[in-house]
Amino acid sequence: MTINYQQILEDIHQEIQPLLTQGKVATYIPELSKVSPQHFGMAVYCLDGSSYTVGDAQQKFSTQSITKLFALSLAFEREGNAIWKRVGREPSGNPFNSLSQLEYERGIPRNPFINAGALVINDILAQRFVQADIAVLQFMRMLADEVKIDFDREVAISEEKHAHRNSAIAHLMKDFGNLHNPVDSVIASYCRQCSITMSCLELAKAGSFLANHGTIPWNGTKILDSSSAKRLNALMLTCGTYDVAGDFAFRVGLPAKSGVGGGILALVPGELAVCVWSPGLDPAGNSLAGVMALELFTTMTARSIF
Ligand code: GLU
Repeated sequence: MTINYQQILEDIHQEIQPLLTQGKVATYIPELSKVSPQHFGMAVYCLDGSSYTVGDAQQKFSTQSITKLFALSLAFEREGNAIWKRVGREPSGNPFNSLSQLEYERGIPRNPFINAGALVINDILAQRFVQADIAVLQFMRMLADEVKIDFDREVAISEEKHAHRNSAIAHLMKDFGNLHNPVDSVIASYCRQCSITMSCLELAKAGSFLANHGTIPWNGTKILDSSSAKRLNALMLTCGTYDVAGDFAFRVGLPAKSGVGGGILALVPGELAVCVWSPGLDPAGNSLAGVMALELFTTMTARSIF
């Protein structure tokens, strides 16, 4: 049965309208609080190269934690399984910026998608590349086939000025010997990485290699082998949507990574990548309308991993 993705996106756009006033835009990074919660965009990028969009799908937004997926992919590609000596693979069950587990787990973050884990991944990349943030930016540009993708310097500066909690996390890990570069340089690099702005369509295209067993669908370049891609999909499912990954799996049934900018990138393995953006967040930090849109998407298309 062929699926009319365009019609489905338009139906979803209609249905989520009442939710656009209900979420709360992130304010702990002051620059993010300036974005209107009324935005909504959604893009589907199919492995055959076809794409479908609705609403603000081509408008750039702050990708924030979605970059953690790309930083992890790059680190995994370069370092292989060695990265698991420094970061775990379990859901944290705690807020993404929590310090509590780090103390009794001796500076080893629970997974690469909480802030502690992403700081370790940035630190790993900093040993491989002159600048970790630029390596992630270039990787994302290459995957999206779009050289104009860039940092948002205002957002990066805004976050760095308020990065006390992330700095505390980094210092604690440094104390346990799990951060090799200076804390300040890792924090600055991490804030720039999180400030990368992209549209839903660019993100869906960039993430499509993870729905395609690790190979970029539009040019055949192998980024990861299929076993590694499977592992990253599994991490997305279990850890990609803050500490409500169980509920997200229950409602949506797809591997995904969300960010506090209101974006969520999700994968239907073997078929497509879908990205949604709406800046109003639910209490867990996921886009309120975005989660509902993805739930509607998997229900209407009857596509999920289950
Ligand atoms: N840059 C944000 C932070 O570290 C990312 C958070 C997120 O999107 O989950 O707080």
